[in-house]
Amino acid sequence: MQDAIRLSLDEVHDTAKSLLSVQGFSEAHAAAIARTVTAAERDECRHHGLFRISFYVNSLKAGHASPDAEPDVSDLAPSVVRVDAKRGFSPLALEYGYAPLIERAKAQGIAALAINNALNVAALWPEVEHLAEAGLVAFAFVSAAPYVAPAGGTKPLFGTNPMAFSWPRSGGHPLVFDQASSASARGEIQIRLRDGKALEDGWAIGPDGRPTTDPRAALAGAQLPFGGAKGSSIALMVELLAGPLVGDLLSFESGEDDKAGTGAPCGGELIIAIDPARCLVGGDRQAQLAHGERLFARILEQEGTRLPSDRRYRARERTAREGVLVPRSLFDSLNELRAG
Ligand code: NDP
Repeated sequence: MQDAIRLSLDEVHDTAKSLLSVQGFSEAHAAAIARTVTAAERDECRHHGLFRISFYVNSLKAGHASPDAEPDVSDLAPSVVRVDAKRGFSPLALEYGYAPLIERAKAQGIAALAINNALNVAALWPEVEHLAEAGLVAFAFVSAAPYVAPAGGTKPLFGTNPMAFSWPRSGGHPLVFDQASSASARGEIQIRLRDGKALEDGWAIGPDGRPTTDPRAALAGAQLPFGGAKGSSIALMVELLAGPLVGDLLSFESGEDDKAGTGAPCGGELIIAIDPARCLVGGDRQAQLAHGERLFARILEQEGTRLPSDRRYRARERTAREGVLVPRSLFDSLNELRAG
């Protein structure tokens, strides 16, 4: 990376936390967001690292986000926990929800966490990875701001609506995938705009409804779902699970709610956690996980394959030793944010 500075992970965390605190976030929110941002930099998921700090700060300055809301945890059913984030950002709400969700999933076999009124500009792999580390299979769904045209359409309606899945592994990091239902993440288009790079074919259409590889036209037009009608149906499912099912907003409603255009949608998240040992007669967790390993081994026998999340875990090992490279322009913009 040209013109970049190297930061240790501790420096990333301290930079994020102090900047968020100076801008008015409470200690609890600044710390939770800084942990999320640092995890993203650590795993080289840069769209959700320091690059995102401006979204957190701008939402606060616009009066769109609460700086200090304490999440409220309640039970909706024996196996359904709710966390009301009260317009705070999602990292703290998640931290409040993990323990009751894990406890319910282990007691009942399956449990859900419904998060409401949360601003979410983060990746979903941290939540499902955390649950898999507790021995659970997990899914997470979030709808986002309206950027994606439904298959065949030309106007933004769906969010980039990610879903994530995790599977525990004995003696190793969990298997995790976390993917947008759009052909590309919004952050990737914003980064390509910043870096003056073209988009891939099939990512977006311009305001005229025609295919474009120009990031600026794509941001003014609409992103496209991955895989045509199939990705469009997944985006539709995510909207229903993270919105109407948990009593929260659809993407286009989140867009209307974001009157200042901060790009940080306020809405719901659904997380489902399953205890493998409770899913079959005489459940033998180790045998179930070993059975999953047979599939992973067969995948990896084929040249050119890797498991989802392996890239992140490799990056994690490297950045623990070497720190991360932050573009000078991003570092300078963070210093400007800190100043005012
Ligand atoms: P990517 O296309 O980069 O990756 C999607 C998944 O595919 C990852 O789990 C990745 O694993 C895996 N993968 C990629 N290449 C391979 C391969 N060759 N073999 C096996 N697995 C592979 O992610 P997206 O652009 O779709 O999404 C980026 C992020 O944006 C996600 O974290 C998502 O949660 C987030 N997002 C958040 C939103 C919000 O509103 N909060 C909205 C939309 C997206 P690996 O990580 O190891 O590369």
